[in-house]
Amino acid sequence: MVSGRENVRYLSGFTGSNSAMLIFGDGRATLYTDPRYTIQAGQQVDCRVKVAKGELMKALVREFDRSGARCIGIEKDHLDVGTMQEFAKSLPVRASFEPVAGIVEKLRMVKDEVEIGLIRKSVDLNSAAFDAALKRIKTGITESDIAAEIDYRSRRLGAERPAFDTIVAAGVRAALPHAQPGRGKIVPGMLLIDMGAFREGYASDMTRMVHLGKASGRYKESYKAVLEAQLAAIDSVKAGVSCKAVDKVTRETLKKFGFDKEFVHSTGHGLGLEIHEAPRVGRKEKTKLEAGMAITVEPGIYVEGWGGIRIEDTVLVTGNGCEVLTPTGKELVEV
Ligand code: ZN
Ligand code: ZN
Repeated sequence: MVSGRENVRYLSGFTGSNSAMLIFGDGRATLYTDPRYTIQAGQQVDCRVKVAKGELMKALVREFDRSGARCIGIEKDHLDVGTMQEFAKSLPVRASFEPVAGIVEKLRMVKDEVEIGLIRKSVDLNSAAFDAALKRIKTGITESDIAAEIDYRSRRLGAERPAFDTIVAAGVRAALPHAQPGRGKIVPGMLLIDMGAFREGYASDMTRMVHLGKASGRYKESYKAVLEAQLAAIDSVKAGVSCKAVDKVTRETLKKFGFDKEFVHSTGHGLGLEIHEAPRVGRKEKTKLEAGMAITVEPGIYVEGWGGIRIEDTVLVTGNGCEVLTPTGKELVEV
């Protein structure tokens, strides 16, 4: 039983909000949804569709029961406790279930040509939205104004929605890696913008720094360190290299500049139907990169009371290296 929404979408094409799939060992599959999605499922899905009037799980278990199968795998990361209890109760006594994780997620890690095309489009759209919003950035407006401008531009350019809550953080607030845009007026200084879009279901993710007014020496030095770490990490990305090896390159480069404690997150993450998906490009991740994986490379430094700098691109892993998909430049920007 597949119940993770993006997993269902990946396997069936269905984008509705209420669904589950039953897949047998021989490849037979049924998509379960409710009457709100009868027409939509008919248009999107090519496997068998069952429109259930009541609980999807109960209808799904009935088919499982009739099939004579004895054991059913359930996605433990995508079932809440309540649904899980209902499901277990409706299961026939002779049957058992087995919690499993990461099966579809693993398939999703390597993107096919169509998916890569969609990620490219999403990334291009995201950068175009950034360029459009950049023209409006000036002192006196708020972080929230800029975030609204980005989201508006992004949708006008074809996004379905932001891939996550747009991050706009000015000055000392840039020290918060996931700052929520605030209502205070922006004064000269650093500005961190982390933005992404979903386009035809696929995510993009980019972080850029903009400096309002003349940048200080300290800012320039720090920016250079982060950029160097980002470029070194990108240089190390290649099929066959482990995620943790890429993360190590980031950490060691930052350390050379004295920034080892200031980097408080992982180097990056996979993205696709979800903004954060496998593999995680972090310290402990042994997964080896494969051609066709789309990941982010996003080192950052965060200093309380001063601010923060992060530079993030979406990159595509290839056989002999990688392709940086993000077209936006990374030179230090002063506006
Ligand atoms: Zn980001
Ligand atoms: Zn990211």
